[in-house]
Amino acid sequence: MTAIVNQETCNGCGDCVEACPLDAIEVKDGKASVDEDTCGDCGACVDVCPTESIHVD
Ligand code: SF4
Ligand code: SF4
Repeated sequence: MTAIVNQETCNGCGDCVEACPLDAIEVKDGKASVDEDTCGDCGACVDVCPTESIHVD
């Protein structure tokens, strides 16, 4: 399991980066990307994303 970002709808706001307790997300070229090895599947990023661009799967 890992957090997955919809690259079509992510607007690069960075809210998920701030919310992640494990520092697993970075924004590159205006899109968030998740380090799968670091993600702990907590769902914190899912809750804060204003565009509903992240899910945990
Ligand atoms: S699910 Fe949790 S650990 Fe994984 S990227 Fe989102 S906030 Fe970070
Ligand atoms: S919170 Fe959502 S819209 Fe903002 S950078 Fe993260 S995935 Fe993209």
